[in-house]
Amino acid sequence: MTPITTHNPICPTNYPIQSGQADVSALATTLGLLPAPSDPLSSLSPTLQPLVSAALDGHLPDDTTAQTLTHSTPQDLPALCRTAAILRDQGHGNTVTFSPKVFIPLTQLCRDFCGYCTFRQSPSQTDRLYMTPDQAVEVASAGQRLGCTEALFTLGERPEQRYPQAKQWLAGRGFRTTLDYLGHVSTRVLDKTTLLPHANPGTMSRREMSGLKPLNTSMGVMMEVLSPRLTLPGMPHHRAPSKYPAVRLKTLDIAGQLKVLFTTGILIGIGETRQERIDTLLAIRHSHQTYGHVQEVIIQNFRAKPATDMSSHPDASTLDLLWTVAVARLILGPHMSIQVPPNLSASDYPIYLLAGINDWGGVSPLTIDYVNPEAPWPSLADLHRHTAALGFNLKPRLPVYPRYILDESDFLPQPIRERALSLADSDGYVKGGIQRYVRTNTASSSSL
Ligand code: SF4
Repeated sequence: MTPITTHNPICPTNYPIQSGQADVSALATTLGLLPAPSDPLSSLSPTLQPLVSAALDGHLPDDTTAQTLTHSTPQDLPALCRTAAILRDQGHGNTVTFSPKVFIPLTQLCRDFCGYCTFRQSPSQTDRLYMTPDQAVEVASAGQRLGCTEALFTLGERPEQRYPQAKQWLAGRGFRTTLDYLGHVSTRVLDKTTLLPHANPGTMSRREMSGLKPLNTSMGVMMEVLSPRLTLPGMPHHRAPSKYPAVRLKTLDIAGQLKVLFTTGILIGIGETRQERIDTLLAIRHSHQTYGHVQEVIIQNFRAKPATDMSSHPDASTLDLLWTVAVARLILGPHMSIQVPPNLSASDYPIYLLAGINDWGGVSPLTIDYVNPEAPWPSLADLHRHTAALGFNLKPRLPVYPRYILDESDFLPQPIRERALSLADSDGYVKGGIQRYVRTNTASSSSL
């Protein structure tokens, strides 16, 4: 493979702190996040003050004004994070959520080659081209016994278009495409367990998504970064046609048009600029403003993996992730659910609560993160303890957020909605609450 020659113009050398520091309180104090600035505006550079002041008054920056955020300095970071945290509090109070899930990697075969990926496999690298329906049901059933409510199907992009072995495997079982097979397995999981399927199969056409909608609570596609530059030779998406910006955005918009609840997000640290991140967040905002279907936005940090084109590329730093989370909250507003995967910042993940997140995404008590197999999930007890230590109330949620269960049922097919209602309490969270997963009586004495 051609070596990736990315640069990272938003990780200047005066941002010295990388992910992995153990003492979150000390780190937050060092960064000026604790104690929180009482007046965020007072410590901001004059360029940013009008934008932040307007955001605190309920006016999100328009597309042009949002670009001002590219000029923020490291000294602006505490005020940006504080503002984002205030906005988060307006939209979510002190509730922080996670989705208890199982991860079902239906196939790791993939037509594409992204410069950072270790999930994808070629047929020669695996003796299991696809999981069988029974294998998927077995994982889902085991998760159900542990209280999981989400069956996350993650898979490679259209492997049958590259590998005859994949095509033959599918044809031998009566399927033309991987997405047709995904529909079949989703049905089996729905029939045999109480879990709610959430499909994460890459790009989808209108026909494909229509076929999956009755079988899935929600679906997802990361936007990564909508930058044509990252598709050029030597860049991470050069050999990944599904990562071309127009293709990603089209899937996001089709989901909105079909009223499919959607998870999306950005991947930072792969050579993009601040402006490209902001442009991607604005594109997500625009789609959501048009269709109202984006449930949550993930801010994911790049981590270098061995044996990839980007194995020597630096990880996204803590400061860079803090900045991006805060900017995402300023652009997407108080009510959007914004999440950071805790397993990708194992030693300092609570700090992102100080930059405006309200969700930890899917966390599994059973299965590994097959996309980041080197990064174990925190235990649910740890997640609860660290979240509570910063004053937040951790609640398990379904793959459909409460407001869509309780208020906007037209996004959910009726059988899926009925199942969601059967799993939810009167507020739309998982019945039984966090006590179903961890003993909570020691939380108040916990510390970071
Ligand atoms: S990131 Fe997704 S699309 Fe890219 S190579 Fe990996 S599995 Fe395929």
